[in-house]
Amino acid sequence: MTKPVIVVHGGAGTWRPERSQLGIEGVKIAAEIGFKILSENGTALDAVEAAVAYMEDNEVFNAGKGSALTIDGHIEMEASIMDGKTLRAGAAGLLREVRNPVSLAKLVMEKTDYVFLIGEWAEKIAEKYGLEKQNPVTELRIKYWKELKQKLLQGEVNYLPRLHQLIKEHPELFTYETVGAVALDNKGNLAAATSTGGMTLKLPGRIGDSPLIGCGTYADNESGACSATGIGEIAIRLALAKTVCEYMKDGLTAQEAAEQSIREVNRRIEGANLIGVIALDPQGNVGAAHNSPNLCWAYFNAEMERPYASLEAKRIIIT
Ligand code: ASP
Repeated sequence: MTKPVIVVHGGAGTWRPERSQLGIEGVKIAAEIGFKILSENGTALDAVEAAVAYMEDNEVFNAGKGSALTIDGHIEMEASIMDGKTLRAGAAGLLREVRNPVSLAKLVMEKTDYVFLIGEWAEKIAEKYGLEKQNPVTELRIKYWKELKQKLLQGEVNYLPRLHQLIKEHPELFTYETVGAVALDNKGNLAAATSTGGMTLKLPGRIGDSPLIGCGTYADNESGACSATGIGEIAIRLALAKTVCEYMKDGLTAQEAAEQSIREVNRRIEGANLIGVIALDPQGNVGAAHNSPNLCWAYFNAEMERPYASLEAKRIIIT
């Protein structure tokens, strides 16, 4: 029997002091919830879904309740999930009121012939299968949105075309705190899931990496599992989650693969390249690395009494 392990993240980016402690507590609880399922012989798939669903319900995180707002002040959530045993995957995007986008992603995987559904019809499927609805808007996100919008109106934010310059100069302006989880169960199966509200002030219709299989989420028993966070466009351009898994397939440990992927981001992508990844290899080794100021993350395995959680993992910045 394989020894189970779970790794979760509550997002890269800059964790402001008002939320730091809550973030640490939140990822710890998410890791505990996922690990409990694993230690009771549950599947990695159920563990990552439950861990991510908890973080979606915890409004400190930018996913589900507490999602970031689009430029016109509404919410478009997205999520994905992948089963490393069968390579089945599900994803959903442009969601306005599903309480747990990760559970809808799992429904898409299990109840439809497709991998990725968006918008109205995705929410119809959620309704048909009895998923709860809620208004995900919170006061804190409205405050962040107003602050950033004000700066935009005053011309302090060159949102386009100098986005990368802007983020370089003011990384704290952008909220990009997706949540994710990767797990290994005692049958040796891996799974990964990621969920987000996306980046504050994103254009409506913009899809990030989080619901895209291979970019924000990937799991394959033959290589490993990964969930990414940070500026989604970078993870998309490098098919980052799959890249991390390919490194593990080539023999790197999860930590080596995570670090290698961040070095690759630094080497290949010019400008603002704020990214973080968590990973697990088939042996259950844990990996986490980032070039963003923070990565809020936690992990839990059978040798530990309680989860380890931190706002930093191995940070690799351009020198
Ligand atoms: N990757 C997400 C996106 O670009 C944001 C995040 O990770 O926080 O939508």
